[in-house]
Amino acid sequence: MGIVFQPQNDENRAGLLEDFIEKAGGCAVIDGGFATQLERHGAFINDPLWSALCLINSPHLISKVHLEYLEAGADVIVTSSYQATLPGFLSRGLSLEQGEKLLEKSVKLATGARDLFWESVNKMGDHAYNRALVAASIGSYGAYLADGSEYSGYYGKDVDLNKLKDFHRRRLQVLVESGPDLLAFETIPNKLETQAIAELLEEEDVQIPSWICFSSVDGVNAPSGESFADCIQVLNTSKRIAAVGINCAPPQFVHTLVQKFKELTGKVIVVYPNSGETWDGVAKRWLPSKCFNDDKFKVLATRWRDSGAKLIGGCCRTTPSTIRGLSKVLKQGSLANN
Ligand SMILES: [Zn+2]
Repeated sequence: MGIVFQPQNDENRAGLLEDFIEKAGGCAVIDGGFATQLERHGAFINDPLWSALCLINSPHLISKVHLEYLEAGADVIVTSSYQATLPGFLSRGLSLEQGEKLLEKSVKLATGARDLFWESVNKMGDHAYNRALVAASIGSYGAYLADGSEYSGYYGKDVDLNKLKDFHRRRLQVLVESGPDLLAFETIPNKLETQAIAELLEEEDVQIPSWICFSSVDGVNAPSGESFADCIQVLNTSKRIAAVGINCAPPQFVHTLVQKFKELTGKVIVVYPNSGETWDGVAKRWLPSKCFNDDKFKVLATRWRDSGAKLIGGCCRTTPSTIRGLSKVLKQGSLANN
């Protein structure tokens, strides 16, 4: 009989992520905006499926973007499955089997890029990279609705705990079976969905660690208006959730939210805000940020680290250049030669 692979116990599961962060120097770098970079390479993503459309049309661009972020120094890369959902694929005329294959593909493209990159840097000999982890992105129910409700937190009267669990269940199963290192729940806007995720991870006996990131539109509360204390309370008892934080909020909110989260939980704090630019919904374009650029982002990131965040990256409109800067400053120059 060969080696028996023991299921991880609770401590090991949270420990996997904490050990990784320790090895990365106490703060690990997450990648940056995915759709932003895909568009820069000419991908068409103006669609309810958003960057998931590239899983069908241009998977080579997804690999390319993963490699760009790895090269920039990301220790964790996030898959292109944020808006990839089975109902979303079904509504585009794909079969359930095809939809599941695309979810699997989102993980395989990321693990493939990670393995390829790791092999190539090791051939170079001396380098300061870490073998990256792959986090499978799971967008909120609001991200699937594509009606902005991930920023309002209001899902309507018909949406209850079971409906949210049913929405997340099959995608979660397929993504976990595809072999990522982590699950990344992103832009969660309310307590109900937080609870649905915590219960689902338990029901499905998920053995890899998860992080849950909330969005925030006022820098104080969850988008639903519920306090973060209320939202975090429902996941503090979950051994399956290793990290909690904020994604896709403007960078100026992050410092006080990290301080607040440190008081609310003993879990690892994860933050990856957007660039601070704002979306003009009428003109359908991004308005340039008045005060945020990569340099400013970099300076703010050291404050987030100093106040306790241990996983730091960027969301919408951040680029490999942002992540290269973050990596340099957060690892105190250890990648300065790259
Ligand atoms: Zn974003």
